[in-house]
Formats: sequence, C-alpha cells, structure tokens
Amino acid sequence: MIVWIDPIRIRLRKKTIFLDRDGVINEDREYYVKRPDEFVLYPEAATALRLFLQLGFQLIIISNQSGLGRGIISWDNFQKIHNIMIKRLSFYGCPPAAVFYCPHRPEDNCFCRKPRPGMLVEAISNFDIPSLECFFIGDRKTDMEAATQAGCRGIRIVRKGRRTPKNRFEVQNLLEAVSLITKFRLQGD
Ligand SMILES: [Mg+2]
Ligand SMILES: [Zn+2]
Repeated sequence: MIVWIDPIRIRLRKKTIFLDRDGVINEDREYYVKRPDEFVLYPEAATALRLFLQLGFQLIIISNQSGLGRGIISWDNFQKIHNIMIKRLSFYGCPPAAVFYCPHRPEDNCFCRKPRPGMLVEAISNFDIPSLECFFIGDRKTDMEAATQAGCRGIRIVRKGRRTPKNRFEVQNLLEAVSLITKFRLQGD
C-alpha cells in the first residue's frame, strides 16, 4: 500500500468522502492511466469536490494501480501523475487530505486491492474516521464491495450511455453524487 498524506489537511474523527480515482475524478483509459498526459480531470470533478468540502467532508482517494505491479506504469510516471493530480486539485481549491494506492496485481493476493477493503480500513482506523457518516464513490462493482466491507455507503458512478442507473445509489457523475449525499443529510439518514 502506498500512502500519501497531507499533514495540513488530514483531520482525525472527521467524516470523509472516499473517492476512487480513475473513472471518478479523471477519465479512465482502456489500458491504464500510464503517463501524465493521460490524466484528464472530468469537467465536473473540481466543482463537486469543492461542494463536498463545503458540506464539511474531507477527501481521501483510494485507488488500485496494478499497472505498477504489472510493470505497465513506471514509478517515475506514477509519481508524476500523482503530483499532477495534487497540483490540479489544489489549484481548483479541492485538494485531497490523503491518497491511498494499491500497486499490486490480483495474483499478489494483497489485502489492499479492491474489492478488498484494506485501504479503506487502514484510512478509517488510522484517522479514527466515523465510517457510518462516510461514502465511497467508485465506478466499479469492486468499489461497492470494498465500501460495504469497510462499513461505509457506496455510491456508484455509471457514466451516461453505459447503462441506465439501476438503483438510488447509482448516479451519472460526481455532481449527481453531491445531490444524493445532500439528500441523505436532509433526511438525517
Ligand atoms: Mg475506477
Ligand atoms: Zn495491494
């Protein structure tokens, strides 16, 4: 597990929006986000993340990057992509408090690779995060499985045109996730 923490922003016992990276914050690629020029933020991402901060959440990114373990993404490019993400999100006023990456391949059988909840569990226990008040926003079924196992609510992003959202925990982009979470708060649910 590779853990990056911003000591200025991380807070103990704070409600948190956990976010998958590729396919949620930035466009996913057919064959991994391998180079800095392949890191493209979705147009609505920064606005949505700023709204989460205004709602009193901190942001923690939880990302499988098996391209590292497979030797498809170089460590140098991995680091550059990470730096670009932090720089852009900071520029737009929505920097994450921490980022967790799993660099392993499925056959490594680690505890951190989603659908296993290792990265979420580690973040929740290290920072004493109230998991019941948290959400994990991802775009895959494996993200939802990790959320359930870690005891927080999963919200799945199903991009327009892929298929129609099936249930009330599926939305089409991060801004719709903001509305959904706002509704939860109003209902005190
Ligand atoms: Mg994803
Ligand atoms: Zn792992």
